[in-house]
Amino acid sequence: MKRRSFIKTSTLAALTAAVPMAGASGGKSKSRSSASKGKMKLTYRPYDLQLKHTFTIANSSRTITPVVLTEIEYDGIVGYGEASLPPYLGETQASVVEFLKKVQLDAFSSPFEMEDILAYVDKIAENNTAAKASVDIALHDLVGKLVNQPWHRLWGLDPAKAPDTTFTIGIDTPEIVKQKTEQDAPLYNILKVKLGRANDREIIEAIRSVTSKPLAIDANQGWGDKRYALDMIYWLKEQGAVMVEQPVSKHRLDDSAWITERSPLPVFADESFQRLTDLMRLRGAFTGVNIKLMKCTGMREAWKILNLARAVGMKVMIGCMTETSCAISAASQLSPAVDWADLDGNLLISNDLYRGTEVVDGRLVLNNLSGIGVLRN
Ligand code: MG
Repeated sequence: MKRRSFIKTSTLAALTAAVPMAGASGGKSKSRSSASKGKMKLTYRPYDLQLKHTFTIANSSRTITPVVLTEIEYDGIVGYGEASLPPYLGETQASVVEFLKKVQLDAFSSPFEMEDILAYVDKIAENNTAAKASVDIALHDLVGKLVNQPWHRLWGLDPAKAPDTTFTIGIDTPEIVKQKTEQDAPLYNILKVKLGRANDREIIEAIRSVTSKPLAIDANQGWGDKRYALDMIYWLKEQGAVMVEQPVSKHRLDDSAWITERSPLPVFADESFQRLTDLMRLRGAFTGVNIKLMKCTGMREAWKILNLARAVGMKVMIGCMTETSCAISAASQLSPAVDWADLDGNLLISNDLYRGTEVVDGRLVLNNLSGIGVLRN
């Protein structure tokens, strides 16, 4: 006992003695390396994603999604990022470019100062969450490449636990929904259905006429009344639905709490939830939250949200916008830790510029590439 405690004390003493030396030499090598390796360089360009099908949700419809693609280069390595800008969220290619012009990474000596860099980026202006995510994702890709590890491994997540992804059947006439379901249902293990209109039951019946696969429901705030929403949820459960997203308006938190308390299915916040600071306000009003990188400023905050949600007993899903495989693969790095994944945004476009996380037999398959796991096509 005495001997063990002596060894412990001597080891501690040796370590303590070593700290100033390590600190001093570490400081020197830091300035040497920043001098030799140079600064981070951020570049960006607008790009339009072509959608395979016109995409309709409860209150809008479109055929392209504008994005801005970013790159951060450091020491000859390039990290890729992306801001996806569906029009109803308010950011545009012009607003993202304006924001990115203000980002001065020269003030930082290395991409490993991620916490400081991203706190600085967040303070440049309010909102602009997709623009911020485009920096965050590129920085994560860069850092992962510099240490030669994918982020799911750096976070300690087992890629074998990556879940199925839902595949979205957009709002359309029951006949078109039936055709889309016949075509897509065989490739996925769970389908996501956008509801929130007068013909919701017809849509579900059209889907049920061709498949019995489980359904994730997204009402996109479209159910006007809490009692109607709860009736729909009970009916949908009988139809094989397994979860519901955003049944009523994001402004009606009391109604959401009323529904969640009585709902036979888990109820997730999407439009009601943006960032880490929203989470505690939603506790009790929803079973869980839908984390999207474009809403929450990127991977760093997404990871914090996931851990806070777990700590307070809430469920987590990870979702997306229409995005290239860049942002989708970034989001998928967290997917082994979530309850539900809705990462099909890259599957809906015809001009993806990246290859990354794939969907095989309906399940997300993470690769071993470092960073966010993507290659440029
Ligand atoms: Mg949603």
